[in-house]
Amino acid sequence: MVRNNFIIAIDGFSSCGKSTLAKALAKELNFVFVDSGAMYRAVTLYFLRNSIDISNRDAVNKALKEIKIDLIPLSNSIQIMLNSEDVSAEIRQMEVSSQVSEVSTIKEVRTAMVAQQKELGERRDIVMDGRDIGTTVFPDADLKIFMTASPEVRAQRRLEELLAKGEQVVLDEIKENLAHRDHIDSTREESPLRQAEDAIVLDNSNLTPEEQLKFVLNQVKIIRGK
Ligand code: C5P
Repeated sequence: MVRNNFIIAIDGFSSCGKSTLAKALAKELNFVFVDSGAMYRAVTLYFLRNSIDISNRDAVNKALKEIKIDLIPLSNSIQIMLNSEDVSAEIRQMEVSSQVSEVSTIKEVRTAMVAQQKELGERRDIVMDGRDIGTTVFPDADLKIFMTASPEVRAQRRLEELLAKGEQVVLDEIKENLAHRDHIDSTREESPLRQAEDAIVLDNSNLTPEEQLKFVLNQVKIIRGK
């Protein structure tokens, strides 16, 4: 089937600045921005709040039926709604971060999220960031970016982000969480994090957000000019 919309898939390790770049691209290009990680975080929050035993498939399936996630675009971000409640701030807390990768290994969870993500990409120009966007959600994306940055740079960025939000965290705790999530994300059975063969690698350890944006906009220009 021929698609008329433009899809940008951004994947990569935790805290590489994927969402920052995706958000800036969406604003510049007037695309819809979808933070797929926020969806897995919202599911995790629901599971935590309702003490869902993730080893119990029936409980997981029942819970998934009760979860409705909506992403509402705001001028500079998106609001994440879990059953009509704004959970945008809560899903970023360490408690969710420490559980989200385990929850994201569950096949049923992925199936439900991927279906919703595919639907969001129908007919709209979209930029979506995550771990499996270029490989599983939109294998036919017009542009695929795989982002990396050194672990030190990533941990420092995340620390500053959380401290700015008033969370009490230390660098070592963040480093551990990032390494833990990267490991689970890359080694899980269901659509593990890996670079799509046709993805362009963007190591942003030494790049400013403006430089990253310029780089990707240039790629979009090249593709559109073809
Ligand atoms: O992007 P973010 O770091 O907020 O994602 C949180 C977690 O959600 C990741 O560590 C990963 O376990 C999971 N995730 C995923 N697939 C995606 C996006 C996120 O498994 N497409």
